[in-house]
Amino acid sequence: MARIVQKFGGTSVANMERIRNVARLVKKEVDAGNQVAVVLSAMSGVTNQLVAYCQEAAPLFDQGEYDAVVSTGEQVTVGLLSIILQSMGISARSWCGWQIPIHTDDAHGKARIVDIETDELLSRMAAGEVPVVAGFQGIGEDGRITTLGRGGSDTSAVALAAALGADRCDIYTDVDGVYTTDPRIVPKARKLPRVTYEEMLEMASLGAKVLQTRSVEMAMKYRVNLQVLSSFEDIPGTLVCDEEDIVEKEVVSGIAYSRDEAKVTLQGVKDHPGIAAAIFGPLADSNINVDMIVQNVSAEGHTDLTFTVPRTDLLRALKVLEEVKKTVGFRDLSHSDTVVKISVIGVGMRTHAGVAQKMFSALAERGINILVISTSEIKVSVLIEEEYTELALRALHTAYGLDAR
Ligand code: ADP
Ligand code: ASP
Ligand code: MG
Repeated sequence: MARIVQKFGGTSVANMERIRNVARLVKKEVDAGNQVAVVLSAMSGVTNQLVAYCQEAAPLFDQGEYDAVVSTGEQVTVGLLSIILQSMGISARSWCGWQIPIHTDDAHGKARIVDIETDELLSRMAAGEVPVVAGFQGIGEDGRITTLGRGGSDTSAVALAAALGADRCDIYTDVDGVYTTDPRIVPKARKLPRVTYEEMLEMASLGAKVLQTRSVEMAMKYRVNLQVLSSFEDIPGTLVCDEEDIVEKEVVSGIAYSRDEAKVTLQGVKDHPGIAAAIFGPLADSNINVDMIVQNVSAEGHTDLTFTVPRTDLLRALKVLEEVKKTVGFRDLSHSDTVVKISVIGVGMRTHAGVAQKMFSALAERGINILVISTSEIKVSVLIEEEYTELALRALHTAYGLDAR
């Protein structure tokens, strides 16, 4: 007997037929004698539609009400799966985040889970009941519904697996594992049988949507046995594991892209101590994460500063910067939301030189201009124009020898 958390994403619960398919996958584990908890996303496309409604209602909407709206998609799927499981003779019931409760902080729209109460779930599971839990949502300290950021059901699943002391957390999705890069863009992408927590964390945080970043952080922290697999094909997926458990290590194991960033350039900024703090402080106070930053060499006491912010926060960032302009003073502000960040990732970079150079020359050969660069121990990222996304991904995938043979 094992205790398992099974999570199914939006495409896996996209319609009634697919929810029935999910029910069969749950039944298989129940029939094998396992204790099972299920976490679900909303039907694919539903959360996007709910977000669009909020934007239509008002461009700068209240985040608490946003959560009230966008959390509803999951309530539908957990109810439907529970009905179907019951009709198959399996004892099941739906749970919203607030009912468990899954406690989070009050950062509406991107809340963090702080605690999950499990006594009730554990005793029901021991009695053979399957809890079907709404992913992506919790309840804040303010007593209101919160959501965990886009893709947050992965985090709900891993957090629940950790809290329940589960033997496994299986993330079922529309691809059969984690690939060297997004297989929908690079047909030659290869499935990785295993990937380290660390690399997966970088890949997720740099844009690989297959797992939400926080879910990997949490799996790493609580040593959750995590695998990614297909809900449509019964074949082995990808195991996320420790570095020691991987025999053949590549210098570069994956390439990710993110269209979630926007570029802001401030021209003619006075170049003296305290300026960066005066610009980035107010952005941080408004909960806006600045990612890549470059500052040009100053000429006559003035410089240009380019940085990226999440695309969804661009409007708010511009508003903050309008205020900043009154105190700091800069000549001009320009921004673009047609950029993409491309990153190559691999633990092998710690010991191999020349990885970044290979990236720059592969892009140069295709005439792709690099706007901003940033690096860390196991990744190199560049910002380029969005129209070159596919070309860049394919060129880099080949340059690093990752193409499927
Ligand atoms: P779900 O709705 O099941 O949570 P997501 O759409 O959030 O599914 O994540 C799965 C998608 O992630 C895939 O369809 C694929 O296009 C994308 N993806 C991006 N990078 C990768 C990668 N390196 N490996 C696998 N899938 C990836
Ligand atoms: N339904 C939410 C979203 O689309 C959560 C998830 O799918 O993980 O972001
Ligand atoms: Mg997802």
